[in-house]
This record gives sequence, structure tokens and C-alpha cells, in this order.
Amino acid sequence: MSDKILRCTGKKAEFRLVVVDASQTAQEITSAHGAPPEVSTLMGEVICGALLMAAGLKQPGALQVALHYQGSLSQVSADATPMGLVRATVNAEELRALVDSGKKTPPHFNLEPKEIRVIKWSETGSLLHESRVPMAHHRTGPALTGYLLQSEQIPSSLGLFSGFHEGKLYALGFLIEALPRIDEETLSALEENLCTLRSPTEYREGSFWNISAWAQALGGGFEIEVHREFDVQAFCPCTRERALKGFLYLPEPERNQLFEEKGKAEIICEYCRRVYTFSQQDLGLKIK
Ligand SMILES: [Zn+2]
Repeated sequence: MSDKILRCTGKKAEFRLVVVDASQTAQEITSAHGAPPEVSTLMGEVICGALLMAAGLKQPGALQVALHYQGSLSQVSADATPMGLVRATVNAEELRALVDSGKKTPPHFNLEPKEIRVIKWSETGSLLHESRVPMAHHRTGPALTGYLLQSEQIPSSLGLFSGFHEGKLYALGFLIEALPRIDEETLSALEENLCTLRSPTEYREGSFWNISAWAQALGGGFEIEVHREFDVQAFCPCTRERALKGFLYLPEPERNQLFEEKGKAEIICEYCRRVYTFSQQDLGLKIK
């Protein structure tokens, strides 16, 4: 069973609902980074947050959500498209320091929320929107809900659920958004329903998460209609050519030093952790 994102609306009520299961994708991404459980959980939340917010893009393109902190990690970020493609990153050196700091993470894992940055790009990669707001909550879901209200004036509720179930990472989320013509009665019924909602772990069926049933529950007494459904997949658009370009930005003495030390240069993509290796012949460089 693969990861999914469902886009729904109330059949007779004015709200939008997006529900995502990115569990396997988050597992794949966090494994590539070698992330410990606390970081995997946080990355799972940010991955779902980016997918849910990207589903609201008005045109094809991509959206990046970056959460900035003080403490064990300076930031966690994820890029997603409305079609369910996603990648995510944390700083590799900070992660290594965290893993090395004791293999006894909880007491050492400390994050003070600082800022949320959101960037939107068009399909051709041109910048459409960039905003930053202080992160008003230490939990990712309420922090992103705050961002949507403050920066985009969207009254919504974004819920994120990431953790470990029988030793396996799960990453689920929903975004429920009031449409402009919603009436007070519907709004308060939806709010009330969200307060009494059961944990998504209730929707585990065998080896998969029944997010269709979860979506129905999120709609409360209102019937929902699923309009689009996409598979969620880890995707990074990095290429050897782009990695080489990045390498060529390094000052020449630094490049030469790499070759002197190792005889080859390795560029690791900060998102998918793919390793690109270049020889001197590839670059036509000479060691002085
Ligand atoms: Zn990559």
C-alpha cells in the first residue's frame, strides 16, 4: 500500500479538507539522512505539512516549508508539489553532532522555536511568494496553523501526527480550511468535531492507514467528497550537472585541496543524500 494524499470538500458544506499519509516516504527520507527517532518524527511532521500546504497551490509549482530553531537543529525543511512529490532536509553536521552527542537523545534534543519561512515557486522555478513569521508554537501543527492565519489569512486547522507504531515511522496529517461562504453553524460543528477527534492510530488497518475513513471522521457529521487522489513519493530533482555546478562555485584552492586529499571530489545532495563523485578529468583541473 503506497502513501496517498486526498483532496476533498464538504459535499454540502463549505470547507476543504486535505488528508495525507506520508509514512513510507518519511521513512525513506529519514533513513537516507540517518536521522534518530526524535528527528525522524519532526521530519515526518514537516514532510506532511509541506505536502498539505502545497496542495493549496493555485498553479503547478512547488512549496518549501522551513522551520527554524535554536538548539539541537537550526532548521528542518521540506519541499513539496501539489502532486505529492516531496523531499526534506536537516543540516547533516548538526545531525551528526546530535547522534554523536550520546546516543541518548531525549535529554539532549532541545529545540526552541524561532521562525517559519514559506517559499512558493512556479512550475518553471520562478519565485512567486516568500514569507516569514515568528514560530508561535513549539508544536509543528499549531505553528503552521498560525502561519496560515497570520501570513495568508486562511482560517484553517492543520494537524500533524508523526511517531512510531510497532517500531515503524508514521507521518499523517490533515488540513481543514473554511471556505469564504461557510456559515457559523458549520464552522463551530467542525471545530467541535476536531476537539473530540480520535488519534489517527485508530485508523490503522493491518499494514496501512485508512485515511479515507479518517477523512470522513474529520468531516464530522458532514459528508465529504474526494476530488483528487495522488500517490506521495520522495523525489529530488538533483542531477550530476547541478552538483557539478555547485562544486564549481567553490574557490579553486579548496577544490584542489579536495583532490589532493582524496584524489576525487564528492558532492552529497543535502536533500536525498545521493553522492556525486567527480574526478579531476571530469573537471579538467590541475593540481598546482
Ligand atoms: Zn538530491
